[in-house]
Amino acid sequence: MPTIKTLSDLERSNVTIYGNCTGRHCGHGQALPIDELIMRFGADYVVINETRISAALRCQRCGHRGGMLTLSPPSTTKS
Ligand SMILES: [Zn+2]
Repeated sequence: MPTIKTLSDLERSNVTIYGNCTGRHCGHGQALPIDELIMRFGADYVVINETRISAALRCQRCGHRGGMLTLSPPSTTKS
């Protein structure tokens, strides 16, 4: 897998980016639409150690603001 640094890298590599709620007793995770992130932050936005996306996360379950990002590579086990 190529090195993932920016939003455009994620899109090109079919990596899914998840936002995980850091609210107490929640931990809800939701996949984030990469095209919307690119529109908002730009295709060259570096996602490694970024803080702006995670700070802007709003949990759909509990309404908590703020979370952690998780990158999930595409599954290669299925053919
Ligand atoms: Zn939550």
